[in-house]
Amino acid sequence: MPETLMADKAAFDVDKIRQDFPILSQTVRGKPLVYLDNAATTQKPHRVIERVRRFDAEEYGTVRRGAYRLCEHATQLFEEARQKVADLLGAGDKKEIVFTSGTTQAINLVAYSFGRRFVNAGDEIIISNIEHHANTVPWQVLCEERGARLKVIPVNDAGELILEEYEKLLSDKTRLVAVNHVSNALGTVNPIREITEKAHAAGARVLIDGAQSTPHMKIDVREIGCDFYTFSGHKMYAPSGIGGVFGKMELWQEMPPYVTGGDMIMTVTLEKTTYAPPPARFEAGTPAITQVIGLGEAIDYLNDIGMDNIARYEKSLLDYGTRLLSEIDGLRIIGTAHDKAALISFALDAAHPHDVVTLLDQDGIAVRGGHHCAQPTMARFGVPATSRASMAFYNKPEELDALAESIRKVIKLFS
Ligand code: PMP
Repeated sequence: MPETLMADKAAFDVDKIRQDFPILSQTVRGKPLVYLDNAATTQKPHRVIERVRRFDAEEYGTVRRGAYRLCEHATQLFEEARQKVADLLGAGDKKEIVFTSGTTQAINLVAYSFGRRFVNAGDEIIISNIEHHANTVPWQVLCEERGARLKVIPVNDAGELILEEYEKLLSDKTRLVAVNHVSNALGTVNPIREITEKAHAAGARVLIDGAQSTPHMKIDVREIGCDFYTFSGHKMYAPSGIGGVFGKMELWQEMPPYVTGGDMIMTVTLEKTTYAPPPARFEAGTPAITQVIGLGEAIDYLNDIGMDNIARYEKSLLDYGTRLLSEIDGLRIIGTAHDKAALISFALDAAHPHDVVTLLDQDGIAVRGGHHCAQPTMARFGVPATSRASMAFYNKPEELDALAESIRKVIKLFS
């Protein structure tokens, strides 16, 4: 084991942490499960599973309606979870947090609502060449509908945004810059503070897709200065079906609702409806109550471990894995940015990613193969797809050894 990881072992007991995750003790095809698809979705600690069970078994009720005990209690827990999200993201006011089903719905909400309020014919929106489709397609649709133009920040061969080109794209026509904090396809960590500052200097607003950053590092939306910041619970050890978006209150207040119906109104007559203030205005219908409670527990769990400890340990895992895979002949790492999250995308000369991941699965190793919902990124790097090993703080260096060994077997098989 490399020295940095041994040093971390004292501060960060990964064996103990693994005991929190029941699924990790499974075997697959007779081999210990090596779960390296954390960028797709993460596993849940026992604490989250148990909190959800207890809520459903003993405390479940609807929220925001009714004055009886179960409803009051559920509403209190629900709003406490909103506060936990606000604290995790460094938001000033929990009312700036709107719950959605995840990042996809969060970006669609902003595209629809901010877009219809602030984007007009001739305006421009800027994304980058390394965005998830969730941060690409909603802007394409909006631009088409409003007669606006979509512009794209190019990346260099390492997968880093070219900031000089970004600056050239900004103008008084730019309404919004929408980029990810961490690329799910390459692992690049983008300089979002600088990106935000430059956008604001041009009078544009900024949305950060935080789907891949919130599980791995401390976030402070006020320090970043961005106008919107999204997240997905299922990538941060919480249940699926819940996520959300931080937005500055001054913007939420100006924005029209996206989905309409119950819970988002102030008054309804048959002639006219007035809307509730944010965040309720953007949370029509009965929300994912149980999932929100699970999200709150997952945040408590992350805080107990400490986001800085998580970031430090995962960095040493990334360095170790990068070194191991770099030593393999016929393997090319795609995405070699200076600042990266714990994710390694790679292509083999010998085999297609779909074959690679199928063969790795024979060794119990779960790795993703495909375009990762980032086809424009794949096109930029001249590949149809990559294999991607994405790590979490419960992964061990030994699992990366197993990955490297299994990849060597694949190469041998195809050569
Ligand atoms: N953006 C990025 C960078 C992602 O990695 C993902 C999920 N792979 C999404 C957006 C979409 O998130 P969700 O599927 O949770 O809505």
